[in-house]
Amino acid sequence: MARYTGPVCRLCKREGMKLYLKGGRCFTDKCPVKETGEKNFISPPGDKPKRYGRRRTNYGVQLREKQKVKRIYGVLEEQFKNYFYKAEKSKGVTGEILLSFLERRLDNVVYRLGLTESRSQARQLVTHGHFLINGKKVNIPSYILKNGDRIEVREKSKKLPPILSALEQENVVPKWLSFDKKKMTGTLVELPKREDIIFSIKEHLIVELYSK
Ligand code: SF4
Repeated sequence: MARYTGPVCRLCKREGMKLYLKGGRCFTDKCPVKETGEKNFISPPGDKPKRYGRRRTNYGVQLREKQKVKRIYGVLEEQFKNYFYKAEKSKGVTGEILLSFLERRLDNVVYRLGLTESRSQARQLVTHGHFLINGKKVNIPSYILKNGDRIEVREKSKKLPPILSALEQENVVPKWLSFDKKKMTGTLVELPKREDIIFSIKEHLIVELYSK
């Protein structure tokens, strides 16, 4: 499974906002990006100051929005495109369905339940087979959960240091998920809605980009 393996803070700098790719470090002073929000433009890595604040074309703005979302969820181009086409064929608002697919990925659900400190750590633990979905081992990070699906940490994995350490951190479980911390078990109780996406994302720009 292909994935980005370069320095991740560089990705946040490029997008000019915190993407929270490094777990606990993102909430400390060690984070080189001090503010959240799209207006906090940061000179992209490698750029000279004179290029600071350059104007972007419509295409450039749409492209950056897509890159940002891909980076947040750790999805590469081909897979992202597939989510888009699948969303386009589904009933409803394409951009919102696209975000719903991304939110319901198994690695994202593991992270949102607070079982890991980052999505990349979740991806790794899923790949190593530490989770069950409806009682069956699933080791595919891109697995999309459905309404009512139950996710649990495998019995033999319940003492894994990264999981125990993540559970010690403060985490707000989104309302489309329920979580029993003691049993390390969660359920997808309803499909995530647009307002449940915590990042500032303009999904219509992505739809416009792919609709050209
Ligand atoms: Fe690095 Fe996290 Fe800060 Fe992004 S938010 S720059 S990943 S420490």
